[in-house]
Amino acid sequence: DHPVHARIDGTIVMIGFGSIGKGTWPLIERHFDYDADRFVVIEPDERNHTFLRQHRINHVADRLTPTNYREVLGRLLEPGKGFVVNLSVDTSSLDILRFCREIGVPYIDTVVEPWAGYYFDTQDNAARTNYALRQAVRDEKAANPGGTTAVSCCGANPGMVSWFVKEALLTLARDTGRDAAAPTDRAGWARLMQSLGVKGVHIAERDTQVRRRPRPRGTFVNTWSVEGFIAEGFQPAELGWGTHETWFPENGHRHDTGCRSAIWLERPGAITRVHTWCPTPGPQFGFLVTHNEAISIADYYTVGEAGAPEFRPTCHYAYHPCDDAVLSLHEMFGSGRQQTVHEILDVDEIVEGIDELGVLLYGHEKNALWFGSRLSNEATKDLAPYQNATGLQVTSAVLAGMVWALENPGAGIVETDEMDHARCLEVQRPYLGPVEAHYTDWTPLQDRWEHFPEDIDDSDPWQFRNVLAT
Ligand code: NAD
Repeated sequence: DHPVHARIDGTIVMIGFGSIGKGTWPLIERHFDYDADRFVVIEPDERNHTFLRQHRINHVADRLTPTNYREVLGRLLEPGKGFVVNLSVDTSSLDILRFCREIGVPYIDTVVEPWAGYYFDTQDNAARTNYALRQAVRDEKAANPGGTTAVSCCGANPGMVSWFVKEALLTLARDTGRDAAAPTDRAGWARLMQSLGVKGVHIAERDTQVRRRPRPRGTFVNTWSVEGFIAEGFQPAELGWGTHETWFPENGHRHDTGCRSAIWLERPGAITRVHTWCPTPGPQFGFLVTHNEAISIADYYTVGEAGAPEFRPTCHYAYHPCDDAVLSLHEMFGSGRQQTVHEILDVDEIVEGIDELGVLLYGHEKNALWFGSRLSNEATKDLAPYQNATGLQVTSAVLAGMVWALENPGAGIVETDEMDHARCLEVQRPYLGPVEAHYTDWTPLQDRWEHFPEDIDDSDPWQFRNVLAT
């Protein structure tokens, strides 16, 4: 009873067969009509080859580089047909999407990824921001509007959470007695957020998945790419910077080119803590890890000029990864050394837990609304193979993005904020477990340790100054 959403002629090329690639493949198999011989994986890591061979999936072992990607992809693809699904680390999203658009092949990825080395090889922190990576894709879009669809950053976050922001806004409009009809363009959505009095958005996540075996010292354990998490955790903390903010962090930097929706802090995101809220724990610390959606959401909901907006929300990630990952970060930053052993919690070793991933819209007349998916690992087992709950939230967004791209083949370069959120969630929702809205009266001024004075602003609970933990 799984719907087949579309037919894909030509070759489907999946780049990378790590935790996300391996989980996306069965969804592609289930929901598209295509010739199985024309599904090819590019995967350089031999450890993933046994699975590919056992499942008779065509694969090539090339590692894509700036010098070979055109030749390798050109060999596999035919102009105007097929699909490129980029789920790798260390490949340039921009270069690959540009090549795909040149030859008329639809493209999707889950992050704006750079070529290997980018995250660590420069001392220039401004150049290592997601702002810089994203802006390069936005500049490509501005210089080459329209054309073959390339979906940028369509995972869970970035990705699905942008669709949740829209659902949450419509929920809030309905629950406060306003017109709950969905706006039809960007300006309409931005005005809706402004008129509802939303000051900002946390991408508020709590991952409670655990296995029985304790984390061995010297091992980085996570529920998705360890490499990806270390890379983004070492980037500077970044956030969309809202118009309600009256204070500016001492270590904060603005940008003077591009959309200007975000700022960055002179500090790694994975050791920058923020006060946030999720339904299961209630108040909790999250890490202000940089993410594309913090910048894109702040940009999308801007009313007025980029440089002097009338309204813009603050927006950032507030991530409590699984407990083993918290300990892994603690060990890594404390020792100044990356662990060399990496483990991704497997669906079958996880004994309990959920990935609770949503958006917390705050500062409005109902204080704060969390809207998101509360998918358990147990439920995931019945929904799709080869992935844990974290993975399925990502892979089902990739599926939804692919469906949308096939239904909108000439949409050019798009981010998930710019896609039809209702259609995408329609495709994705069967895989998300409970999707729920929770109001809370919690604010960042509550549940603090009162024995020590803090530099906070009592007059406005939702200032970033209060959210940032010192
Ligand atoms: P992973 O580390 O498990 O797998 C990455 C794969 O890329 C590996 O199999 C590796 O061999 C392959 N690879 C590395 N270099 C390559 C190259 N030069 N050419 C081709 N393949 C190469 O990672 P994952 O958990 O599967 O995540 C994949 C990507 O998805 C990462 O970029 C990650 O940041 C992103 N991601 C996004 C979201 C989201 O919600 N948007 C969530 C999770 C992961």
